[in-house]
Amino acid sequence: MPESTPTAEMLARRARLLGPAYRLFYEQPFQPVRGEGVWLYDAAGQPYLDAYNNVVCVGHAHPQVVEAIARQAATLNTHTRYLHDGILDYAERLLATMPPELGHATFTCTGSEANDLAMRIATAHTGGAGLIVTRFAYHGVTSAIACASPSLGQFVQLGAHVRLVDAPSGGDAGAGHRFAEGVRAAIADLRAHGIAPAALMVDTVFSSDGVFTGPAGLLREAVEAIHAAGGVFIADEVQPGFGRTGETFWGFQRHGVVPDIVTMGKPMGNGHPVAGLAVKPEVMQAFGKACRYFNTFGGNPVSMAAASAVLDVIEQQDLQRNALEVGTYLRERLAALAPRHALVGEVRGAGLFLGVELVTDRAARTPATAQAARVVNGLRARQVLLSATGEHANILKIRPPLVFTREHADLLVQRLDEVLTAIAQ
Ligand code: PMP
Repeated sequence: MPESTPTAEMLARRARLLGPAYRLFYEQPFQPVRGEGVWLYDAAGQPYLDAYNNVVCVGHAHPQVVEAIARQAATLNTHTRYLHDGILDYAERLLATMPPELGHATFTCTGSEANDLAMRIATAHTGGAGLIVTRFAYHGVTSAIACASPSLGQFVQLGAHVRLVDAPSGGDAGAGHRFAEGVRAAIADLRAHGIAPAALMVDTVFSSDGVFTGPAGLLREAVEAIHAAGGVFIADEVQPGFGRTGETFWGFQRHGVVPDIVTMGKPMGNGHPVAGLAVKPEVMQAFGKACRYFNTFGGNPVSMAAASAVLDVIEQQDLQRNALEVGTYLRERLAALAPRHALVGEVRGAGLFLGVELVTDRAARTPATAQAARVVNGLRARQVLLSATGEHANILKIRPPLVFTREHADLLVQRLDEVLTAIAQ
């Protein structure tokens, strides 16, 4: 059956109605009409293997989550200034997944809001303003956070209080030390400009920097450095959280550190907009005294029902273990492509969060940016969805729903093999 192709009329309509800031994926834009498990379907009924969508962590349209949302929406949906057990039950369950030091939970609708609030809490607690992030970080859309998201592009105005450090690449034993050296230099530079450091904020898999997950323990020295300078450590778990990295439920746990604030979002509601923070009570104090916090939709009963159903499914289907097993299998199979395909450089990642570096010269690690775009579009033509990340957009980013199986992994590798072969010819 032929693929249903979006019409030029639809693209023009989108540009007219939504304006120029919205971007599409793919040379041939994709128009799914339905999702189920790891599959997206177009209007012609063609299935696409979704190896990219970490939001739908328990799979597209999971019936248990859909049912929980529908049931609660048909019963009650109000704000958090009325009492409701849903928010308390969920907060209890969420905090039970965290180190015991993290004793308070706060809910928002998006990861951006969670990071924005995390910075306000950090500023209130430390009295400082300086924020250290990685060189190609993405943390969200609010003014305060977009100015600390250099991956938004060269025209993004970084805040005067923001300092950038290189993400810990290399995967070697010295990666964590080099990263901490960068953090110490950033702290010194902030101080030289009369700015007290408030926080080090990192995505604990460094997704937009290019996926850097190892070695385990890599964050320890940098966290010590920010603490020694009086700042807090904010673990942005929007990408790695909720079991994806396999060995642990949260990305920071792989590195043996306890954050002062943890932010989360994307997979939390399997597509329902719910996000939040876990905070050490002593870190929350100053903000709580100075301010009241109210978020019209954050933590409402429907959001909490969705988030709770997601935790149920992760537990019942043992998806963290699946992420570890299938992710390890997939990583090995991807690495096995390297001997036959010169473009394939380092294959790295943890659980079902993988990066495949494409290079034109392995020794020099020259980014194969144009080739990566051809691979992404070639896979889309073969009905496999993924994307590229990193400063040079040459790292294939693979983060499928956690219900991904070995058979799905085999299909992905087979299609990638075909595309790499086609490109080499
Ligand atoms: N932090 C990270 C690491 C993210 O990847 C994102 C979203 N891509 C955000 C924060 C912002 O989340 P949201 O889009 O829900 O505002």
